[in-house]
Amino acid sequence: MTKKILLLPGDGIGPEIVKQAEKILKFFIDSGKLDAVLDTELLGGCAYDETGVPMPDETIAKAKASDAILMGAIGGWKYDTLPRELRPERGLLGIREALGLFANLRPAILFPQLAEASSLKPELVSGLDLMIVRELTGGIYFGQPRGIEERQMANGTEKVGFNTMHYSESEIARIMKVAFEIAQKRYGRLCSVEKANVLEVSELWRAGALKAAENYPDVALEHLYVDNATMQLVREPKQFDVMVTGNLFGDILSDCAAMLTGSIGMLPSASFDENGKGLYEPVHGSAPDIAGLDKANPLATILSLEMLLRYSLDEQGLADNIKNAVNKVLDKGLRTSDIMSEGMTELGCEAMGDAVLAELQ
Ligand code: NAD
Repeated sequence: MTKKILLLPGDGIGPEIVKQAEKILKFFIDSGKLDAVLDTELLGGCAYDETGVPMPDETIAKAKASDAILMGAIGGWKYDTLPRELRPERGLLGIREALGLFANLRPAILFPQLAEASSLKPELVSGLDLMIVRELTGGIYFGQPRGIEERQMANGTEKVGFNTMHYSESEIARIMKVAFEIAQKRYGRLCSVEKANVLEVSELWRAGALKAAENYPDVALEHLYVDNATMQLVREPKQFDVMVTGNLFGDILSDCAAMLTGSIGMLPSASFDENGKGLYEPVHGSAPDIAGLDKANPLATILSLEMLLRYSLDEQGLADNIKNAVNKVLDKGLRTSDIMSEGMTELGCEAMGDAVLAELQ
């Protein structure tokens, strides 16, 4: 059946980088390798400029009706003084909420050709390929009760801040399903990260992981406390395949893992709803400082397209082709300015997109 893919280029460098992924998609469609139709909509600052709101109803309607969504980035300096509900970021949070995107996938990939970019020793990170699956709509960021209030304490009245971390069995089960299925499509190893030695919510998390494991005998499950997991991530990151964790721990671990690779222009991400519909986007923002200068690295967006093909459209072959093409381009010494090093050839955004396309052709 023909798949519907919605493109949301957004602001800043968004249109430049999404254009490079669109060229690849059009090539796949025109050459009969992919049965899909493309549509483009407004989200973020560009939507505010055109319609007066950052998340138009039409965009959400089309997002709901599509099989997968590829986003560029949103935001820009000129919107910083707008009221909060009109800012581009509202569009981003709003679409995640409207689509019920509860599972966030953040790979940390370090192509061997870029091992020097990391702050860790090249041999520790060269070829790093790990995936963090973070629960995105529950946990302590959303738990009630929360607040700051005056309370009577031992030494008199003082303010107390409090939040609640909670996960239900069904919330745990659905994120585990996503994580186990991803591990099945990768190298078959899953590490569940929590703090079950101290927190009851983590005890339930661990029980949920064990229960889910019964359905995936082909995946090897291990459990780590979050403090140890953080240490291991920096000590020997290549020991991990897929890590699954809650909202708070995932927020911290995924940023830590991303920085192991040292190159923000190379990292894709995905967020899923209950039915596997995904929104795919580079980890970086709209980079207003280089917007319109043909300097942006489009590879994070092209690798987001790789994820879209792999996880939402189940096109493993085309996804592999993209990964191989990116590897070949890097092997040839082609670099955008953010990953440039001595002896390499510097390309602009458009030329880098063309170089990947040429490898695919
Ligand atoms: P940023 O990621 O846009 O930029 C940080 C630095 O990295 C800049 O120097 C930029 O030039 C560089 N950079 C980013 N992507 C690059 C690429 N593909 N190629 C080469 N260099 C790249 O972060 P910021 O400056 O903190 O934020 C700028 C705007 O983006 C803000 O409005 C912010 O709210 C927004 N933002 C959006 C998203 C998103 O859309 N998901 C995420 C983060 C930030």
